[in-house]
Amino acid sequence: MSAPSAVTAKERAAASGQLLAAVDIGGTKIAAGLVDRTGELLYQVSRPTPAQESGSAVLTAVHAAVEHLAADPRWGRVAALGIGSAGPVDTARGTVSPVNIPGWRDFPLVRSMAAHPALAGLPMVLGGDAVAMAAAEHWRGAARGHANALCIVVSTGVGAGLILDGAVYPGPTGNAGHLGHICVDLDGDPCACGSRGCVEGLASGTAIARRALRDGWQPHGSDASAGAVAASARRGDPIALAAFDRAAQALAAGIAATATLVEIDLAVIGGGVAQAGDLLFAPLRRHLARYATLSFTSAIRVVPAALGTDAGLVGAAALAAPRLGATAAPSS
Ligand SMILES: [Zn+2]
Repeated sequence: MSAPSAVTAKERAAASGQLLAAVDIGGTKIAAGLVDRTGELLYQVSRPTPAQESGSAVLTAVHAAVEHLAADPRWGRVAALGIGSAGPVDTARGTVSPVNIPGWRDFPLVRSMAAHPALAGLPMVLGGDAVAMAAAEHWRGAARGHANALCIVVSTGVGAGLILDGAVYPGPTGNAGHLGHICVDLDGDPCACGSRGCVEGLASGTAIARRALRDGWQPHGSDASAGAVAASARRGDPIALAAFDRAAQALAAGIAATATLVEIDLAVIGGGVAQAGDLLFAPLRRHLARYATLSFTSAIRVVPAALGTDAGLVGAAALAAPRLGATAAPSS
């Protein structure tokens, strides 16, 4: 018998039954899971994010979720870890600064994870949550089989990720495809990012509710969320309908611009606001027909995301899947 030697990631992947570990870090929830080579989520744990506590308290919660995973008998088959985090992220530096986790600013997440004994030596890939969602939809969801697609998350903000030439395209720091901060209204309202007229300021759930209230919408009771605006729109409230129409128009302009730049043929829309269904998708398709007019953009389709709450973990795993070797990488 030869002496034991360090096992490389590729050698681990060559063995059968290799698994991916996934961690999904959001402002309200930290989830961790085990995902197989086909993208099936086998097991998951989650716990609340102590978002208002110190940065080290948040890290302790992430480590605790990982320790829970590491206690699973299948942990020994894990060959790589994918981490999806609320942004902004800087994958070049391995840092994150999630807006909803004030204790983490330029937080060295990759280094802090690698220091945990259960993760020592494990290949690790960090990505933003929207890029992870794009990877998930490409692997197992609505963008499967599409070589060029834009996947958008419309919730309290607007995030997005690109699939180009058959693979997720995160860009040098993990922020490529950040549709929410493309300007679609030259003299529009100032945006928190410093620019103005951004897609997010017009199309997010926050923006939909703000616009409806500003235009005189009367919520039933105390719920003034985008979901409540959607409920009013379903009853035919013209102000609520107009708020969704404006959001759809901003998304359509952003999608058309993206299609013109990089020739995507599919836009996948997920996130809480997408739950409004045709209230969003019908005006979105109508506006898109007005903006995506060139021969190479006019055939673009818009579809709802196929993966629900699992998208964060499946996406985090998808980011790390190429580390298993070519056979396990998500492909079109
Ligand atoms: Zn902005």
